Parts: sequence; structure tokens; C-alpha cells
Amino acid sequence: MRCPICQNTTKVTNSRGADQGKAIRRRRLCVSCKRRFTTYERIELLGLDVEKRNGAREPYYRHKLELGIRKALEKRPFTEDQFQKLVSSVENEIFNLEKDTIGSDQIGKIVLSHLKEFDKVAYIRFASVYRNFRSPRAFEREAQKLEQQTTKSS
Ligand SMILES: [Zn+2]
Repeated sequence: MRCPICQNTTKVTNSRGADQGKAIRRRRLCVSCKRRFTTYERIELLGLDVEKRNGAREPYYRHKLELGIRKALEKRPFTEDQFQKLVSSVENEIFNLEKDTIGSDQIGKIVLSHLKEFDKVAYIRFASVYRNFRSPRAFEREAQKLEQQTTKSS
């Protein structure tokens, strides 16, 4: 940290806990002008809110993400280890956006991109919920599209 007076480098002369362990207080000394001052290091919790389609907000919870993905994977073959890795990779992508608020739509999009590789059936199930298909025909079209893609790539 730089000296607020002369902008030179400072050195820490003393560190100790403050505010019942919620902060660290450091005594600093400017190497140039010899002024002394104090800095506080505090924890800033990185809170993430999820904004739903109706505009309501709620804190992000990993278990809610798990719930949605698990539902799509019902009766599909996967190990708990694979599942946790899948959820973590989705979660990493969410946190890497470094946002305070993320739309549930955007989370859905990220889940879909990961599910596509993980399990095609779960992908279609999740997509049908995510895209809020109103008619079975829309769902059919999506399934067909996927079928064509799978045939092409194999
Ligand atoms: Zn200074």
C-alpha cells in the first residue's frame, strides 16, 4: 500500500486482529516521509443474488442449482462424483462472471451448455422446463433438432 501523503511505498510495522477477528489492523510506516498510519483489512463476502423471471430476487444457493439439475437427471446413469463435478463447473462459470446479480435465465443457459455434453436426455428435459414449452410440438421440434445434431456429429 502506498503512502497517502507522498505516494511512496510503506512497510508494515505491526499487525493484529481487530473487531473480534473480523478485521486485521496494520500499522504502517512510509519509507520516505516516515509518516505512520493504519490500515484495516476486512472480509467482503461475495454475495450473489438470483433474479427470477418475475423480478423477485433471492440469494444464490448451490443446493437449489443441484436440485434443478438432479431433477433433469432423474433415472439417468451418473455417479455422485460426476454430478458434483458438473454442478461445480456450472457454478464456476456463474462465479467467473463476477456479477452481483444473475438472472435465472442466464443460469439456465449455463446449465444447458454443460448438460448438453453430460447427458442428452437430461439436456432436453432441462430445456423443456427452461424454455417453458407451452405445446408438446415445441418440445418435439427441440428433440428433433437435437437428434439431427447427434446424428451429424456421430
Ligand atoms: Zn510518505
